[in-house]
Amino acid sequence: MRHLAFSTFLALSTPSLVLGWGEPHHAITRAALEVLPAWQKEVLGGELKQLGDKYCMIPDHVFSDKENAKYAQMESVPNEVYLKILHLPTQQPEYLEVMRYFMEQAVASLRSGKLGDAARYIGTVCHQIEDYGSPSHTVPGDNMFTLLQQFLPPTEAMKGQLMHGPIENGDFKVSIEGYKPALLGNTVNEAAWRLMHRVHDEILNARSTTVPIMQALYKEDKEDVVKHQKRAATMDAQVVADAVYTMMCLGMQKFAAEEQELLKRVQIGGFFPLEAASCYYPQQQFFSSPNWGHPRSGVILEGGTKEIPLKLCVGSSNQEFKNGISAGMGKPLTFLLPKDVYARFTVLAGLHPELGAKGRVEFTVSGDGKVLTTVILNGTDPAKLLECDVAGVRELQLALTSRGLDAKSNYAIWAEPTLVKN
Ligand SMILES: [Zn+2]
Repeated sequence: MRHLAFSTFLALSTPSLVLGWGEPHHAITRAALEVLPAWQKEVLGGELKQLGDKYCMIPDHVFSDKENAKYAQMESVPNEVYLKILHLPTQQPEYLEVMRYFMEQAVASLRSGKLGDAARYIGTVCHQIEDYGSPSHTVPGDNMFTLLQQFLPPTEAMKGQLMHGPIENGDFKVSIEGYKPALLGNTVNEAAWRLMHRVHDEILNARSTTVPIMQALYKEDKEDVVKHQKRAATMDAQVVADAVYTMMCLGMQKFAAEEQELLKRVQIGGFFPLEAASCYYPQQQFFSSPNWGHPRSGVILEGGTKEIPLKLCVGSSNQEFKNGISAGMGKPLTFLLPKDVYARFTVLAGLHPELGAKGRVEFTVSGDGKVLTTVILNGTDPAKLLECDVAGVRELQLALTSRGLDAKSNYAIWAEPTLVKN
């Protein structure tokens, strides 16, 4: 009991901080701001420097910087001073809403001429993107790397050290000179949703740096540590640049026509479905035949082991596809859609013409639990273009069901799944 009382005391007296990038927050934000177009820098004026020097740290400084703490708070959880989700991802619908909320605050502040408020909210958005892409935030549930260190036993000199800080901290410069920030949406709903998918790629990139950084720390090779940290920081800066650029465009209602055109349709074959918890595909979620249960983006697994290109028979000839998904039977994939953005969904459904020749599969597209379109295809049938209305749909689901005798031949492919605006 004493132990319990003591831990309760600790929990009450010390907020559970999950600090991300320390100093590098500034370096990443500054690198992103540098590549903004001149007109945006002009609008931001004196706030530009403050963003890199101070506002990108607002979510970490909520206890010491009480004046600015409110810019990292949500109306829906007024008592939560330190919003953990601004530092670590949880579930997709939750962190999408947080991204959307703070982007909306920034845009609304810009539209009502409150530049100081806007810059502070932008700082909070920068912080969230940077923390999610920190090499120290890449292992779900292992924020201090006590678990990862069991796989990678530390050297004598590093024993007992909490690795979170050493993995992400450092004093280095970041530059993305020449990078042209991209418009993520012409509404906040669209922009936050596109930002979330950019952030998923950023998390995977950061995750590829974590182990090399730990190994470099063990070797006390500082140069190597920084090399890998910068790999994460560089992509983080690009995503931050896209986000800030987009918030400024939305706030000032200034868009380039060719960028608007690019946003009219988006292929989602590379996006993470809701089932990809914590940004990876846990195998037990998917175990099914074929593919050993692994849905794959951009490839199909021959015999469950060998990645080969996605291929479908279109009309009378075979065609390869880069954007698409191969998946097993009976394990649907669910994609969260942004509110009031897309009108239609199109996808080419079919079986791999060689691997799947003996298969027979039912392809079903559903929206919020209602079947939108469905078709049964044989392995020798040409691919079928499915089209459906998705206006108002929040969750789009792609499901496959075996309808034949040879489950091992159900090499089903969703090629170029595409959301289209009106
Ligand atoms: Zn943080």
